[in-house]
Amino acid sequence: MMAGNTPILVLREGTKREKGRGALTNNIQAAKAIADAVRSTLGPRGLDKMLVDSMGDVVVTNDGVTILKEMDVEHPAAKMLVEVAKTQDQEAGDGTTTAVILAGELLKRAEGLIEQNIHPTIISQGYRLASAKALEVLNQISQPVSISDQEALRRIAVTAMASKSVSFNRDLLGDIAVRAVVAVAEKKGEGYFVDLDNIQLIKKQGGQISDTSLIEGVIVDKEKVHSGMPSRVENPKIALLDAALEIKKTEIDAKIEINDPTQLNAFLQEEENMLRRMVETVKKSGANVVLCQKGIDDLAQHYLAKDGIYAVRRVKKSDMEKLAKATGASIVSKVSELTPQDIGTAGLVEERKIGEDALTFVTGAKKARAVSILIRGGTEHVIDEIERSLDDALNVVAVAVEDGRFVFGGGATAEEVAMHLRDEAAKVGGREQLAFEGFADSLETIPRTLAENAGLDPIDIVIELRKAHKGGAKTAGVNIQAGKVGDMDQLHVIEPIRVGRQAIESATDAAVMILRIDDVIASKSSPPPSGGPGGPGGGMGGGMGGMGGGDFGED
Ligand code: ADP
Ligand code: MG
Repeated sequence: MMAGNTPILVLREGTKREKGRGALTNNIQAAKAIADAVRSTLGPRGLDKMLVDSMGDVVVTNDGVTILKEMDVEHPAAKMLVEVAKTQDQEAGDGTTTAVILAGELLKRAEGLIEQNIHPTIISQGYRLASAKALEVLNQISQPVSISDQEALRRIAVTAMASKSVSFNRDLLGDIAVRAVVAVAEKKGEGYFVDLDNIQLIKKQGGQISDTSLIEGVIVDKEKVHSGMPSRVENPKIALLDAALEIKKTEIDAKIEINDPTQLNAFLQEEENMLRRMVETVKKSGANVVLCQKGIDDLAQHYLAKDGIYAVRRVKKSDMEKLAKATGASIVSKVSELTPQDIGTAGLVEERKIGEDALTFVTGAKKARAVSILIRGGTEHVIDEIERSLDDALNVVAVAVEDGRFVFGGGATAEEVAMHLRDEAAKVGGREQLAFEGFADSLETIPRTLAENAGLDPIDIVIELRKAHKGGAKTAGVNIQAGKVGDMDQLHVIEPIRVGRQAIESATDAAVMILRIDDVIASKSSPPPSGGPGGPGGGMGGGMGGMGGGDFGED
């Protein structure tokens, strides 16, 4: 850095810079800290975390990605691990904790290798090779599952929900998730495509978790606008309006000068006539149900009721789109342009009371399958956790239906892949082989952590697992209930292949990316380490912020 005697400054004053080993060690520590933060939640016996934000709002969850999203993470390398969780959630919908602790373990092992003077580049190469091999093995040991095998799909859903606090309703919720996904799955070439946007989750506090149900149709979380309207319309003709059934109020304060009472009457009469014409247009289109994204004037409500038309106002845009798809109606943005061609159909439109609120149910639509899950539960926290659990379940079932392949959980697959990698390691040779083996060892962090969280001796369990897999028991994993190694096939612990594949891919990417950084340059304007809105101790991640490790020598 010192060329001659005067140092040349190329960075703005105040820029923090850390180079070489120091930068790497610091990044690894931060990433490990993130992995440690979620480790205790892995698996059916994993514990929950209570997250309190700066506003005092509380979330109780076991969901890796939720925890990391809520945490106020500051350190750049730690943020990369949070990204791993987000990617995992987007791509596979489950396995976020797994991906993060795998990345953390890869980095921990890398640290040991660096201490043995193995260059980070060599470690990265070894990890890349091992990751490619692991994916290959994963494919080989996976098994087929078809959309018609609802029993297997239910097991996949139940496994995904095993670690959630709602787990004793998981048979019911798993069944709902499978029926919902199967209902909206579309055939695409040889396989299936599942658009989870066609499954609507509606949360209504009250009742019990077991009252949660699947409805074949769209639920609009709104009541009819007028008590004089029918509560039930069979074989409804549905109009979808993205326009107000109101007279537009002038934007600017217009002054209308009225000199005698007849003028006022004429003016009011004109307003009335306009509303009447609007309702007339609706009626002429043949509609007897109007779902309106905007407002409906009181007088228009009255006319609609008189004509026996069921109307709802301020429907959410996303609901309108679902309704359009399901009923075949087109969303019309000008009332005067509504024609009979725009009208959609369904089997029934009905107002139903759920707890305190009245909701509009549109069922029996034929154009496209749309399903809704009505989530019930005693408290808001319970309902939110059911939503997260269902979200996991829907995702894993969807992914299993799309890919058509599953693997065994409970650490069985991790151990089987690790064993195959160790067998291959000798072929790699050189120093990379050590990294390759390190990758295999890292995979065992999954069964080890599952055992640890269940209060078992992780060392005993891993030794027993290795023995079982050596002996050909490919589906041996951690039997959490019995506290020993068990057959995951018999215990029905299965997962879609994509969860494992994505976890390996994103954990490797993150670890390699962090290993390749040897220089961290933070501009002056970067936020200070403890500057989160939570203040000191507010964000759980606060403690690991900053780069100032301090004890790093010269390069
Ligand atoms: P993630 O966020 O990674 O999905 P979870 O807390 O959901 O973390 O735990 C998932 C892990 O728990 C997976 O390795 C899965 O195989 C394992 N698991 C789920 N159910 C069981 C079970 N009944 N017995 C053993 N392991 C299980
Ligand atoms: Mg999970």
